Amino acid sequence: MYTLPELPYAYDALEPYIDTRTMTVHHDKHHATYVKNLNDALAPIGSELAGLFEGTPVEELLKKLDDVPEAVRTKVKNNAGGHANHSLFWTIMSPVKSAPTGKLLEALNTAFGSPEKFQEVFSTAALNRFGSGWVWLVLDGGKLAIMDTPNQDSPVSVGATSILTLDVWEHAYYLKYQNMRADYITAWWNVVNWTEVARRFTTAS
Ligand code: MN
Repeated sequence: MYTLPELPYAYDALEPYIDTRTMTVHHDKHHATYVKNLNDALAPIGSELAGLFEGTPVEELLKKLDDVPEAVRTKVKNNAGGHANHSLFWTIMSPVKSAPTGKLLEALNTAFGSPEKFQEVFSTAALNRFGSGWVWLVLDGGKLAIMDTPNQDSPVSVGATSILTLDVWEHAYYLKYQNMRADYITAWWNVVNWTEVARRFTTAS
């Protein structure tokens, strides 16, 4: 059984950039539903594949989608992705102001020229992601790169390691920003938890 992790801060902690109502609905309804649907999808195959998925961290499950019976594979992919992506998303945000430093700063300079340039390219990718999906900073083959994925697809499934991510589904911003995704993206940079991003980068390097 997969379980919904608690937010690492209060629902109103990211105000005014991410509003309380969005955080509440996003975590308690959207994320909770992915967890429930993932458990529901795996339940019928539990005994058939006993031990294969029991206790498997959700990121590991996303690397083993080929082992999931075809009848439930799409449902597992979408909902395991939804669970993993949101679990990561909460942790890479914080009300505490931070900035890239150390090895992460060096790597951003090498890959993109500067943190500002990285932010610009990432924001453009987020704005241009058509429809629902996510934008990512990943470590792929030892190098930092920007990726975007549709729906709840995860870079983990294609062998990359996710370092930072932004949810650009409308449910992530519509209550406060309506159709103005660009304003949401601009606001979001104020709550990026660079300390956690740096920790993830170090672990993955
Ligand atoms: Mn979402």
